[in-house]
Amino acid sequence: METTGLDPERDRIIEIFMLALSKSGEVAQYETLINPERPLLPEIVELTGLTDADLKDAPLEAAVAPEIREFIGLGTPVAHNLSFDLRFVNAMFRRNNLLELGEGGLDTLAISRALFPKLAIYPGGGGSHRLSNLMYHFRLDGAYANAHRAREDVLLLVEVFRHLQDYAAGRGSLSYPEPLIYGCPTCGSVMYVNREDGRDVLVCKNQPSCQVKLVV
Ligand SMILES: [Zn+2]
Repeated sequence: METTGLDPERDRIIEIFMLALSKSGEVAQYETLINPERPLLPEIVELTGLTDADLKDAPLEAAVAPEIREFIGLGTPVAHNLSFDLRFVNAMFRRNNLLELGEGGLDTLAISRALFPKLAIYPGGGGSHRLSNLMYHFRLDGAYANAHRAREDVLLLVEVFRHLQDYAAGRGSLSYPEPLIYGCPTCGSVMYVNREDGRDVLVCKNQPSCQVKLVV
């Protein structure tokens, strides 16, 4: 999902992409651009690559909100920072007199925080539990361009969700040194992953007051 900003009441969804995965393996998808009836801020154009011209002929929210509500149906929503998406879609459903979604769902951000309390920050990863950082953590960066668009984010989310589930179930194929998941052994801060002379080096985020540096 892409939005015009961070406020679910004042801002609007401009792009939504949803995948529905059923237990039997069926996959359905829904995607649309939405005309927010306002110009995009330069930082949103920069972040999403979407422009006013891309959205001017897109359907209005009132036209697609019922389809979006129907697509979600009784499914369990999964998202990275689910409460953000829920606030936006529920604000849209309220404006269009549609039934709001409840609090239920799976938040991959919360799952990541629980499994990797102090996940190291990879080069280009952004922040500890960002989806982009999990992409590097699970070595998915080869397959997923880091474009910030709704569709790529969702396809990456599906892979990240699978890896989180596998890791939680002890089926993960990758193993990680403890400080990479639990933080600096001395001060407990998140570590940065640096590449030095062809090796991965973990450097404490709490530098210079903590000088811990580990070759992994
Ligand atoms: Zn430290």
